[in-house]
Amino acid sequence: MTTTAHDSVELVDFDAVLAAYDPALGLEVHVELNTATKMFCGCPATFGGEPNSHVCPTCLGLPGAMPVVNGKAVESAIRIGLALNCEIAEWCRFARKNYFYPDMPKNFQTSQYDEPICFDGWMDVDVDGETFRVEIERAHMEEDTGKSTHVGGATGRIHGADHSLVDYNRAGIPLIEIVTRPILGAGEKAPAVARAYVAQLRDLIVALGVSEARMDQGNLRADVNLSLAPKGSGTLGTRTETKNVNSFRSVERAVRYEMQRHAAVLDAGRSILQETRHWHEDTGITTSGREKSDAEDYRYFPEPDLVPVAPSREWVEELRATLPENPTEKRARLQSEWGFSDLEMRDTVGAGALGLVEETIALGAAPQAARKWWLGELARRANDAGQELTALGVTPADVAAVQGLVDDGTLNDKLARQVFDGLFAGEGTPAEIVAARGLAIVSDDGALSAAVDEAIAANPDVADKIRDGKHAAAGALIGAVMKSMRGQADAGKVRELILAKLS
Ligand SMILES: [Zn+2]
Repeated sequence: MTTTAHDSVELVDFDAVLAAYDPALGLEVHVELNTATKMFCGCPATFGGEPNSHVCPTCLGLPGAMPVVNGKAVESAIRIGLALNCEIAEWCRFARKNYFYPDMPKNFQTSQYDEPICFDGWMDVDVDGETFRVEIERAHMEEDTGKSTHVGGATGRIHGADHSLVDYNRAGIPLIEIVTRPILGAGEKAPAVARAYVAQLRDLIVALGVSEARMDQGNLRADVNLSLAPKGSGTLGTRTETKNVNSFRSVERAVRYEMQRHAAVLDAGRSILQETRHWHEDTGITTSGREKSDAEDYRYFPEPDLVPVAPSREWVEELRATLPENPTEKRARLQSEWGFSDLEMRDTVGAGALGLVEETIALGAAPQAARKWWLGELARRANDAGQELTALGVTPADVAAVQGLVDDGTLNDKLARQVFDGLFAGEGTPAEIVAARGLAIVSDDGALSAAVDEAIAANPDVADKIRDGKHAAAGALIGAVMKSMRGQADAGKVRELILAKLS
């Protein structure tokens, strides 16, 4: 355990950090694959289930149990590697990474060490119209651990807990760990580059169909490495690794926070401890975890119970042919199809909404309408809730259905927002919510006409102005009618009716 003395530093202003230091980023992303079974046994790899119901002698590490490699997981690993422009090893092995963790029953994790299946790749990341090439050092296969629940404490952490429960359902689920080389030269954009990399990587994983890639469910977990070096020195400083940062927004915030914290420690003449740190979503800070072991402490050695993996070149080429469209080319194609400006496209990508907007459009919504809902109303609600758009519980199908009701004149935008209220409250489909809440625009011309007459009678001065040709004054009457109709009228139609009655 390490000292927590660094946890209470006075952060350095972000601009001051940049004036004195060059940041170096590194990202390690774990992707939980969506294979039917676990990495080395036939247990179901599905999320959840009764604790310890998806287990067998192999994933419980019982003596004598023999693992077998999941072929589908190897296929997914190769496809991820190819999509990241990696070389694919002709021959590689698994290795045992030895350490004790209560939720890891074998006391070693079956991983890959010096022979990763994918290596030397890259991905181009767009940030505000600028492209950063992120080099991928490796993407290797490994297995997930189980899950501990600490009971009785206030924080859910082990400190202060009465006892702990262990669920091994997740132990042995296939993971791909994707590791970048140090990302240098991002400067002030380092936090945004980190976020954009994870967001684009997620889009890629989703397009490949190899994982649900939901950060809120832990299918995709990012560890953020950061170090600072004196500006212009061309060296690398000591890095910290912030673990399991579980949203795009948090990735950006964690990088920014660590830059400011590192600078404070360095400015005070102290040195950065090489350690893992925990990200706290609520307070937006990191705290000290454990001192980071060097690789030799894990006593890696080749796994004797598994045969090497030797994917044939023919198979690799077959898999290459299954890759989805290159994300950069795809973005350019979609932008031109949708008629989005550069700024609209950047905002859409930056909000992590590209896939959502694409799906909504595919379900029939006009491009600008799809963009408007996801980047306006829904982004605002996600931001208020501190959530990702994908975690809101509103689907592209919901948004397309709401917009369909706007298009056919059932709803106006104001009523549509009330339908979203209903969706968040779990009141059913958009059509059900419109019916249950009585939200539809009143199409009964008699009722509308009566409301207009009432508004005219109540505002004789305004009515006179309109009769004198001052049509701009109609706004006050439209407002009165909309109010009496509880917003459930088509404002354009109300205006027409007022002008017709007063001309
Ligand atoms: Zn099993």
